[in-house]
Amino acid sequence: MRDLIIRTFVLLFASAMIAAILVKSDNHSSAMNLNADNNPLLAKWEGPYGGVPPFDRVQIPLFKPALEAAMAQQLAETQKIADNPAPPDFENTIVALERTGRTLDRVSTLYYVWSSTMNSPEFQVVQREMEPRLAGLLDQIFQNEPLFKRIEAVYNSPAKAKLKPEQQRLVWLYYTNFVRAGARLDANAKKRLSEINQQLAGLYTNFSQNVLAEETDQFIVLKSEAELAGLPQSLRDAAAAAAETKKQPGTWVITNTRSSIDPFLTYSDRRDLREKAWRMFINRGDNGGEHDNNAIITEILQLRAERAKLLGYPTHAHWRLENAMAKTPERAMELMEAVWKPAVARVHEEVADMQALADKEGAKIKIEPWDYRYYMEKVRKAKFDLDQNEVKPYLQLEKLREGIFWVAGELFNFNFTPVTNVPVAHPDIRVWEVTDKTTKKHIGLWYFDPYARAGKRSGAWMNAYRTQERINGEVTTIVSNNANFVKGKPGEPVLISWDDATTMFHEFGHALHGLNSNVTYPLVSGTAVARDYVEFPSQLMEHWLSTPEVLQRFALHYQTGKPIPQELVDKIKRTSTFNQGFGTVEYLSAALVDMKLHLAGAQKIDPDAFERETLAQLGMPKEIVMRHRLPHFLHIFSSDSYSAGYYSYLWSDVLTADAFGAFVEGKGPYDRAVAERLRKYIFSVGNTVDPAEGYRAFRGRDPKIDALMKKRGFSPKS
Ligand SMILES: [Zn+2]
Repeated sequence: MRDLIIRTFVLLFASAMIAAILVKSDNHSSAMNLNADNNPLLAKWEGPYGGVPPFDRVQIPLFKPALEAAMAQQLAETQKIADNPAPPDFENTIVALERTGRTLDRVSTLYYVWSSTMNSPEFQVVQREMEPRLAGLLDQIFQNEPLFKRIEAVYNSPAKAKLKPEQQRLVWLYYTNFVRAGARLDANAKKRLSEINQQLAGLYTNFSQNVLAEETDQFIVLKSEAELAGLPQSLRDAAAAAAETKKQPGTWVITNTRSSIDPFLTYSDRRDLREKAWRMFINRGDNGGEHDNNAIITEILQLRAERAKLLGYPTHAHWRLENAMAKTPERAMELMEAVWKPAVARVHEEVADMQALADKEGAKIKIEPWDYRYYMEKVRKAKFDLDQNEVKPYLQLEKLREGIFWVAGELFNFNFTPVTNVPVAHPDIRVWEVTDKTTKKHIGLWYFDPYARAGKRSGAWMNAYRTQERINGEVTTIVSNNANFVKGKPGEPVLISWDDATTMFHEFGHALHGLNSNVTYPLVSGTAVARDYVEFPSQLMEHWLSTPEVLQRFALHYQTGKPIPQELVDKIKRTSTFNQGFGTVEYLSAALVDMKLHLAGAQKIDPDAFERETLAQLGMPKEIVMRHRLPHFLHIFSSDSYSAGYYSYLWSDVLTADAFGAFVEGKGPYDRAVAERLRKYIFSVGNTVDPAEGYRAFRGRDPKIDALMKKRGFSPKS
């Protein structure tokens, strides 16, 4: 499963709601005097395309004063709305709120790019101080009584019925966001709520920094040819490059990140080293000592439970899901349970296949978790005659990038042109302008940051630096895709795996969701949709990688330039449901534990025991470990965003599989009429319509689970 990281509060509250300052710090008055002249982070974005982020002017000491000044500005802006003597209406309250916080929006864009891709000990000091204050700032706005009264008045006014549907939904969103954040509580409860939110923000920062520390500080050094046994050349090269970075010259280093560990577990013939690597990876944040996250988890869960109670919900899960597409934890659980049993049954079959192969080889072992990927690869080869390393030479990073551009051209009429006239945070980052192929109209910018480096979080994600809107004239979007590919030698193409290629299409799907946005208000723009809906456009785009149109044009051998042979494509097709037991159970166990944790209420939870007992109750196959064990489960403990929400990927995949059926039933993946419906009802509408309605408009009916089960090769009855 892939990550979508969007700055949490931007996703939830968009620009307008970042809100107010928490003035606990006494140096606040000096921040007030700051302006764009002495702090470039505060300046309006200059340059082409309606202005671009000034990545070239960032210096870490500028962040704190810039954030403080921007927060103070937003507080003043929102207070002005609260103090307005005129009777509240849509324009002077809701639209006025949408106009606030623009400076903070700009500063925090830079701040979060540094947080996720340019992190350093110096930056972490700023983070530890500022995260709780940013959380406190939000509360100060949500708890502003006169402001809420005005929003409530607009929400309850008969005039609301005369507004356009997008405007009515915007009013509802403001109202419900305020209520859900405690606007109706009494003074004591509000005070406690704000304390909880600030405490949580600090804990989230500590949690993330602990994981980053263990991913950075721990690694395995391989010193001899014997220790490299089984590793393909590309992995050896990557390990040699990592050894340089880790100052271990003359050795090979396996770093403690997924992009390094998974291939090692797949190919290393050394069972002892596989076990060592596996243990290092699954124990991130669980090693005792200063970076252990267990106590932090217990505290986070208790604070979340207390907060849910304060807000009037039975549990944190009920609070989180209220405005999701699933609406209740029960509906999310129902879906997960429907898929769980057939997936576990499939795992047992997969293990039996692997055990048989190991026995035949005379390995004299019982399949353990550190054997799964290794034997899975052998079974793939034996059963389907498919060697992943045979595919890789056809998957050049840059060719696939051209491939996703081409798909965007076919489906959405987009054209991509490289530009060099905008600043970037790191020399590896490149930028493209997106225009309409027919009208040549400017649509937005796409930043691509493909390579791993120190201070960059692992995984792949999309981010919006600026969202599309048109309150004061047309503002175009700026989006980015980020990944952790290992940079090749100069002049050599970067070859990636089929899984990584899928991830590229996935993240690009998020980018297309942002680029297609066609709304008026920033709060409802682009990817600012329900958490369990946001993975739908991205997962849908994964389907286009395996279309013959893409493979024949862009899956070209890096030496011969010849397209991938049809025979190999057929083999890949035949393996599409291979190993879905592993993939589904690895993911779903984490999603189930996440939901159960957040349904458990206020009891004091020992994460280790909870994880172990819950998995035992579920009948977790012992050959598989959760995709993210709790001590490093960043999705759910680095912010609220995916908490009680990791099920979202499965929920969205039901939509994905069902939606792709619309193309299959039509003229195929490039059916223009279906693509136009997709743009009109899904990709362009942001959060201006209820997702269930949007889906119905696209598909002509509600989604069905059948396509998902078929896609994963499960029988619903097993
Ligand atoms: Zn995603």
